[in-house]
Amino acid sequence: MTAQPFNAFTMARSQFDKIAESLGLDQATKDLLRNPLREYHFSLPVRMDDGSFKVFQGYRVQHNDARGPAKGGIRFHPQETADTVRALAMWMTWKCAVAKLPLGGGKGGVICEPHNLSMTEQQNICRAYVRQIARNIGPVSDVPAPDVMTNGQHMLWMVDEYEQMNGGRFPGAITGKPVGMGGSQGRTEATGFGVVFALREALKELDIRPQDTVASVQGFGNVAQYAIELYQQIGGTVVAVSCWDQKAQQPYTFRKKSGIDIAELRGITDRFGGIDQQKAVGLGYECLPGEAWIEQDVDILMPCALENAITADTVLKIGKRVRIIAEGANGPTTPDADHVLQERKIFVIPDFLANAGGVTCSYLEQVQSNMNYFWEKDEVLGKLDVMMTSAFVSVSDMARRQKLYMRDAAYTIAIARVAQACKDRGWV
Ligand code: GLU
Repeated sequence: MTAQPFNAFTMARSQFDKIAESLGLDQATKDLLRNPLREYHFSLPVRMDDGSFKVFQGYRVQHNDARGPAKGGIRFHPQETADTVRALAMWMTWKCAVAKLPLGGGKGGVICEPHNLSMTEQQNICRAYVRQIARNIGPVSDVPAPDVMTNGQHMLWMVDEYEQMNGGRFPGAITGKPVGMGGSQGRTEATGFGVVFALREALKELDIRPQDTVASVQGFGNVAQYAIELYQQIGGTVVAVSCWDQKAQQPYTFRKKSGIDIAELRGITDRFGGIDQQKAVGLGYECLPGEAWIEQDVDILMPCALENAITADTVLKIGKRVRIIAEGANGPTTPDADHVLQERKIFVIPDFLANAGGVTCSYLEQVQSNMNYFWEKDEVLGKLDVMMTSAFVSVSDMARRQKLYMRDAAYTIAIARVAQACKDRGWV
């Protein structure tokens, strides 16, 4: 029997409750942090290409802003719900805290299927979204960014709408803008590269050389592609990637035992990370239906897609050789699967630590935008590496010292920082 997908917010709360208990937080702090501070639900009337109007549902959740303005992406996804956005906003709070950024956590979403929308329709959704939420976001309150199925172009439409409404230029209102339009060098690469900065540190700690490792990756979107690129640069070999097949409405795994060629695969991939099956087979890839990425004989797994990837069912398929799981996605592992990983002593780099590179670079973009200044790519990526490495080291030090599971160590640091900020402000 296949397990029901976990409700992401239930999962985020249960992860929080466990650590809140061990930290001995008082009831008011727990009540404050297990709920969003504010959330907005709104209707987006959008003109479609055929002249008709269609109303989409939008959300923006500001989970906590005690440490600074709320920060987090906006996802376009047909299965978006208020609860997924709440969970993702909460995870952003912990992510910014563990990375020591002076930011809080927020997230947005629109229920829509971009595969079936023209660019004009997507632009109209972006602008409608900002028209509804402009009063409640901005450089000093809540700063959106790209996420699943949104990119720099969407962010540019959004910042433009925000600026039209507010009569000025406010590049710090949104991050992930295109380079040359207030965006930061390195932002596109940042999340995937950050996963590998953390992975590199984990390998050092386990005394494993990257060139002796083989990995399998779930997803082939922005996070996965740049994670693979940097992992290969440090010497690793990726033997399998999976992606969602929009036509078949199911995932496929593409395998090449000698190692995939990232440039070659990118050349046959659409803008949503969908790999063309026929062309891949033509290039010598085995095409395996389903989630075969998880059962490969590898040292490292990188889930870089969505929630509910490693579940009570799929965790049993993880091979004996797997030593490290680097969670590029948000919330890929359900709590029941997490117990199994912990028992098996797999070194997990938890999501809100592993994928903190995106928001860390967004923070660097905010700094540049607010100063109307820009840094060269090496400078940005250098700062990103230092910040990611330091976040990783503080978590792994605590895990070692207190004999904690990596996820619990990351939660302990993040929740303690946010709880302290709430206390210092006199909120609780
Ligand atoms: N959407 C990314 C995340 O989940 C980045 C958020 C941001 O840059 O604000 O971390």
